[in-house]
Amino acid sequence: MPSKEIKNFAIIGDPVAHTLSPKMQKAAFTAGGFPNYNYIPVPIPVGRLMLTVDGFKGLEFRGFNVTIPHKTNIIKYLDSVDPDAKIIGAVNTVVNDGGMMTGYNTDVTGFLAALSEADFMAEECNAVILGAGGAARAVAWGLCKRKAGFITVGARNGEKAKKFAADFEKFGSIAGYDWTEEEFKENLQSADILINTTPLGMYPEVDAMPPVDLKLLPEGALVYDIIYNPAKTKFLQTAEELGFPTLNGMSMLLLQGREACRLFTGHIPDVDIMRRVVKQELNSQNREIDKEK
Ligand code: NAP
Repeated sequence: MPSKEIKNFAIIGDPVAHTLSPKMQKAAFTAGGFPNYNYIPVPIPVGRLMLTVDGFKGLEFRGFNVTIPHKTNIIKYLDSVDPDAKIIGAVNTVVNDGGMMTGYNTDVTGFLAALSEADFMAEECNAVILGAGGAARAVAWGLCKRKAGFITVGARNGEKAKKFAADFEKFGSIAGYDWTEEEFKENLQSADILINTTPLGMYPEVDAMPPVDLKLLPEGALVYDIIYNPAKTKFLQTAEELGFPTLNGMSMLLLQGREACRLFTGHIPDVDIMRRVVKQELNSQNREIDKEK
């Protein structure tokens, strides 16, 4: 019997016009028996976070998601932060328990669940991450939690990659490089998994890809692109042509959303329903972008 109760949820960010979360979470709520749960995108500029958190408390919103550019800054306005989110340094989901605001990072849960779905055993693996931004931090922490053997981080900015690696040194074996360095290329030759966390190749810039020679990878290495639009980036297409198994970012997106829904409602939603809605929404957004070109 569907619940008649009304609860309110939101996503905050700047911009939020194209976020998939409202459609994805609303589908999850309805399928889970909560048709009266509302979920709205709220554009919030930098500098208004404290007022926003207080506003959601006052309006008794049950929770909200957080996207660019607030994922790090939101932390100082919350009452507590889950240990994963603290280590990653970013929150993408906030739950309001009677005025107590707790922050979580569901990207790490989504990333690890997607690896499990793909039957990839991260324990003792040699992993190479491309990019050193926010998503890379969730990926690196996920790999540390799974006790990966060695993590190599390669980025266009070697200094950033080195600083990134220093942040995770106490949790596992990790090193950062400019991705043109010889040592980075050597590490590619023993990688069990290569993960792109840069936006290179994301719709509509579909001809771009990270400047990495995939031929250096050993046979059987999993090539993973956390981009979900398009479903097959040039990076994944090239890897497939070379015979490597591949994985795109759709599972991570859906499984981080599933975890957010679980935190909001206590209910684990059907991911296939979420997948259908997200694919429809992506197709319609891509058509809009094409029309504007
Ligand atoms: P971010 O914090 O801005 O980090 C992006 C990283 O990519 C940085 O290291 C940045 O380098 C690098 N980069 C950006 N443009 C580049 C370019 N033209 N050439 C080389 N490197 C470049 O972004 P994020 O939040 O980590 O998100 C990154 C990607 O992950 C996006 O495509 C996003 O959609 C995707 N994502 C997917 C999921 C999922 O659920 N599947 C979840 C989160 C994110 P600099 O620091 O030098 O700028």
